[in-house]
Amino acid sequence: MKVTVLGMYGGYPYAGKGTSSYLIQTNDYNLLLDCGSGALLSLEQHLNPLELDGVLLSHYHNDHIADVGVLQYYWQLNNQEIGGKVLPIYGHAEDQEHFASLTWPDATVGVAYDPAKELVLKSLRITFLKTKHPVTAYAVRIEDTATKEVLTYTADTAEIPEMIPFAHDSDLLITDTNFSAAKKGKKWHMTSSESANLALKSGSKKLMLSHLPQKISANQLVKEAEKVVGKQVEVFSAYVGLKIIV
Ligand code: ZN
Repeated sequence: MKVTVLGMYGGYPYAGKGTSSYLIQTNDYNLLLDCGSGALLSLEQHLNPLELDGVLLSHYHNDHIADVGVLQYYWQLNNQEIGGKVLPIYGHAEDQEHFASLTWPDATVGVAYDPAKELVLKSLRITFLKTKHPVTAYAVRIEDTATKEVLTYTADTAEIPEMIPFAHDSDLLITDTNFSAAKKGKKWHMTSSESANLALKSGSKKLMLSHLPQKISANQLVKEAEKVVGKQVEVFSAYVGLKIIV
């Protein structure tokens, strides 16, 4: 499985870099995981957008879906090159208004995933965990059944104990790390040390801090996480264009 970071900020794009979006590639599938601000521009650097096989959305906050509309126009204006193929966009159906917007005639079609069931996309086997967030959001565990590699993406969430078994033995764990370790009070995202604790307790091999804040250096967050995991987990921060072989 190859993962390319297309956007890594939470909230809003900043200094030329966009918000949550990742390209996940296997031998038989090109998946766009979340589609935040700047995702399409970033994607065009790595893949012809018409070569996407599907889009998977964790939730409907704008920093995860801002570029869905322009991706739909891209397909509408260009998909005659591929025989009018329609792009499936997988999202939950617990917000009917947003779910309905995933369908754009002759370009994209919204497909509701059932979070209680596996979603199988060619060799990818995807399972879901509801997170703790102001709107309904799902973490995803993506296994490439051909290689047995596992990627877990927490999506947006406060720290929840159920995430530890859900992320067990991940080759790569991508966490919503929007706060430094010192953050106190009510949180809808995790701190650097909470992300690190999750990586350690779940037995994950690599931890990528993402959904980053604009005003705290990524280096600082990585150092805070390393304090928790020691040498047991490899920690790094997401940046646009970063490619990871899982
Ligand atoms: Zn969110």
